[in-house]
Amino acid sequence: EETFNQIKRFDPEVKAFLHLFEEEALSKAKEADEKRKKGEKGSLLGIPLSIKDNICIKGYPTTCASKILENFIAPYEATVVEKLKAEGAVLIGKTNLDEFAMGSSTENSAFFPTRNPWDLERVPGGSSGGSAAAVAVRMGLGSLGSDTGGSIRQPAAFCGVVGLKPTYGLVSRYGLVAFASSLDQIGPFGLTVEDTAILLKAIAGKDEKDSTSAAVSIPDYLQVIHQNEKTKFTIGLPKEYLQTEMDPEIKQKIEEVVNLLRKTHEIKEVSLPHTPYAVATYYIIAPAEASSNLARYDGVKYGLRVESTNLIDMYKKTRAKGFGKEVKRRIMIGTYALSAGYYDAFYLKASKVRTLILRDFLEAFKQVDLLITPVTPTPPFKIGEKITDPLQMYLSDIFTIPVNLAGLPGISLPIGLNSEGLPIGLQIIGPHFREDLLLSLAYQIE
Ligand code: GLN
Repeated sequence: EETFNQIKRFDPEVKAFLHLFEEEALSKAKEADEKRKKGEKGSLLGIPLSIKDNICIKGYPTTCASKILENFIAPYEATVVEKLKAEGAVLIGKTNLDEFAMGSSTENSAFFPTRNPWDLERVPGGSSGGSAAAVAVRMGLGSLGSDTGGSIRQPAAFCGVVGLKPTYGLVSRYGLVAFASSLDQIGPFGLTVEDTAILLKAIAGKDEKDSTSAAVSIPDYLQVIHQNEKTKFTIGLPKEYLQTEMDPEIKQKIEEVVNLLRKTHEIKEVSLPHTPYAVATYYIIAPAEASSNLARYDGVKYGLRVESTNLIDMYKKTRAKGFGKEVKRRIMIGTYALSAGYYDAFYLKASKVRTLILRDFLEAFKQVDLLITPVTPTPPFKIGEKITDPLQMYLSDIFTIPVNLAGLPGISLPIGLNSEGLPIGLQIIGPHFREDLLLSLAYQIE
């Protein structure tokens, strides 16, 4: 009830939610209460959570904030949703996003933009902007988002909450609507590092329904971060990141945190020389995969159909009407990059550079346990400020994209406010499947 009071009070302005399930959530909450009284356990028993609207909850809409899926009801349950329910979580609603998770501001939603709760004239980041804003306003205590090139970490930084992108393969993608399948990961948002650790534990693990999910053992992250409260780490600062043009207050805040860490940890400068190619590489690979994944929205199998007497014409009209501007741009870039004669020059080349970016990280992790970087080069920007300049928008993920290309885990945690009262985030990057280390350092910093 408290959660829905909060939603009624703040969501008319923030607009974090696309769908709410109040009645069902309240009855699930009562059930959870009964279970608790009977002594039943569950790491999330009765905990109100929201889910980004590109993750399927059986029997409920999954629109991806797109007109093409406006009336689509998911016929099956995402594995992460199944897992949250098994732990007793109460799902309260589906959160807004950039259409098909393409964007960094949630302005690309076909329905409405979400606003940054710290300043309603600004964006919450994206694409999981609805999830980040919801958690920031305590409309639910946590949320699940997806991160293909920064979509959990960047909005977490803009909204002053914790957001974690797991190692590629740690969390099942079954039931996540595919954007760029070799980059996509589902991950948690929490108010604290501890909450995030509990949520990650609940959703991680091998899933027969996702062949890219990994058979690794999942530690009790909450226990581990408590045990590691005093553990000393060797922390790397990638010089290419700090040389990138960024807002001076962000740079200064990161330096302040690093200086505090110097008292207990060893800090080293490291080099990730292929960093300058990451955004360009991503904008070949992600649109290429997207153009292939989005071919299924043809008006035949599900979603919107614009009737016509001719099949090809029906495809064209459906896709023209159903997809927004940014999605069309991605499909065109991706189709071009994959077309015969261009494949070697673009897609294959990008795949090779991707390997070089991964190798940079693997070299760095021979010298250090973890890396610290900024999350975003700027504080939350104004609504409308970057929407007409896609390149500027793409550059807001300059620090988050390399992590996806390399399949590594990354966490964004709030480290304070700038002089305008806007949140600043810090990113920790770890080796593959070392979310335990990532969360441990984050917990120490918090
Ligand atoms: N902003 C990036 C993009 O538009 C990343 C999106 C994401 O991580 N889903 O592709």
